[in-house]
Amino acid sequence: MSCIFCRIVAGEIPAEVVAREPEVTAFLDVQPLADGHVLVVPRAHAACVEDLKPAEADALFRAVVRLAGPVRAALGAAGTTIGVNNGEATGQTIPHVHVHIVPRWPNDGAGSVHTIFPRHVKRKLPEVGAAIRKALS
Ligand code: AMP
Ligand code: ZN
Repeated sequence: MSCIFCRIVAGEIPAEVVAREPEVTAFLDVQPLADGHVLVVPRAHAACVEDLKPAEADALFRAVVRLAGPVRAALGAAGTTIGVNNGEATGQTIPHVHVHIVPRWPNDGAGSVHTIFPRHVKRKLPEVGAAIRKALS
């Protein structure tokens, strides 16, 4: 098994685990962006969000919901930024789906999710909406 997150889930390599459930494991990021930076991962290997089975997606997001409050409270944080780098082009470095929960404080120097985008938009909303609706159908 070469996937580092599969190995953490299996208990083969050490991690600071904060929650271990049948379908989901949560552990501290080894290079935290802030104190209390948690990664939540599904047990089954899936490279990106689109590869998750419905039950895996349910369990993953339920765990995120369950963890968000306690992580915030444990660190005395004002909020959490919750995000997924979904695919190599987005900066995903470990190809096993993981949800970042990063505690936040007022004036902590970090921005919102919006601040990672330079807003290079070329297409009109109706055209984009139609394209996505077509892809969904
Ligand atoms: P991403 O860029 O979304 O793929 O994030 C991967 C995250 O995994 C990074 O924030 C790393 O610091 C973290 N990471 C890598 N290896 C480990 C590990 N062995 N234990 C805990 N976190 C890790
Ligand atoms: Zn894996």
